[in-house]
Amino acid sequence: MLDTDADICRRVWVRCDACGPDASCGPCSQSRICDRHWCYLLGIEGRRLFVQCRDCHGRWWHDTGFGVGDRPARLDEVPAPTGVSAPAR
Ligand SMILES: [Zn+2]
Ligand SMILES: [Zn+2]
Repeated sequence: MLDTDADICRRVWVRCDACGPDASCGPCSQSRICDRHWCYLLGIEGRRLFVQCRDCHGRWWHDTGFGVGDRPARLDEVPAPTGVSAPAR
């Protein structure tokens, strides 16, 4: 089920382990932004993003690899999540 926080305006291009990369998809195989394979951005906590796959609806925390306290400026416009805990599966 799609998370209530899922918003098509907030997307992030990370790979879903469950779905995996689509070798037959041109943009994905070239590590480019793809129209079909992206995840919803549900929340941000420090350098981690809480994302949901649009295909399998799986949710997980994605580590962006940014240093602790380092946040890309353009993420500041997204309100900080409140009460976001580990995904219940
Ligand atoms: Zn793709
Ligand atoms: Zn998936």
